[in-house]
Amino acid sequence: MRIAIYPGSFDPLTNGHLDLIQRAAKLFDRVIVAVAKSEGKQPLFTLAERHKLVTRAIEPMPGVEADTFDGLLVEYVAKRSGHAIIRGLRAVSDFEFEFQLALMNRKLDERIETIFMMPKGSYTFLSSKIVKEVARLGGDVADFVPEHVRQALDRKLRKQPK
Ligand code: ADP
Repeated sequence: MRIAIYPGSFDPLTNGHLDLIQRAAKLFDRVIVAVAKSEGKQPLFTLAERHKLVTRAIEPMPGVEADTFDGLLVEYVAKRSGHAIIRGLRAVSDFEFEFQLALMNRKLDERIETIFMMPKGSYTFLSSKIVKEVARLGGDVADFVPEHVRQALDRKLRKQPK
């Protein structure tokens, strides 16, 4: 059984993330979408909310599950008996940080490989950050996130001072 872990903040999940999950699900028997606590990033959604949004989106996907983790990724991957870490590469701007992260994770545990995947071309500009900015300013994000995420953004931002 080949298991891949796809870690991230998912604050919130976007269609770009979903595109990657679908691609990874074709390569692995099991894909665990691991929502990181990411406290330092001061996420808009709580860990429980981010986990719930992912869980709902992957419901129809066999072999895909959602989980949460805190602390060192390599320790989590070992605990879940993962063989690989999935990360996304959108543009050159992602490369430097992702390269550093992958090599650091290899240094910490050389049994675990990092696999980079490219999303569909039309999602290369998509990030949770830009979706939040557009939604905050009242823009329509329906093309970028699943409907239940759009609704969650709407509810969350209505409660927040602009
Ligand atoms: P993190 O806080 O780890 O950066 P993110 O939720 O922003 O978490 O992203 C998780 C992973 O998904 C990262 O590897 C990121 O590069 C990738 N990713 C995010 N958005 C996209 C996208 N539109 N297309 C491809 N990969 C993406």
